[in-house]
Amino acid sequence: MRLVYTDQNRLLVEHARNVVENAGIEVTLRNEWVGGASGEVSPTAAWLEVWVVEDADEQPALAAIEAAQRTTDGPDRVCANCGEASPAGFAQCWNCEASF
Ligand SMILES: [Zn+2]
Repeated sequence: MRLVYTDQNRLLVEHARNVVENAGIEVTLRNEWVGGASGEVSPTAAWLEVWVVEDADEQPALAAIEAAQRTTDGPDRVCANCGEASPAGFAQCWNCEASF
């Protein structure tokens, strides 16, 4: 198991998880349920984390995330369906899953 991504913004972590999964790599999330308990643990410990199951997948996963982040530069996309903003690299609205 290797940690490949974590961020304070759970949305970005979910996105990274999707990116890695779409690359055919098996991943697991940690701290998925502690987001509401950040008063009891340090903020960093409560960050959602993406881990690859196989150590050998670490580098391909990091490369996939990096490639995806390059495409997220630019203004947020505002969903025409629900009005929520998603980072530019998202192909779907994070909120209602409408395609952009
Ligand atoms: Zn939406």
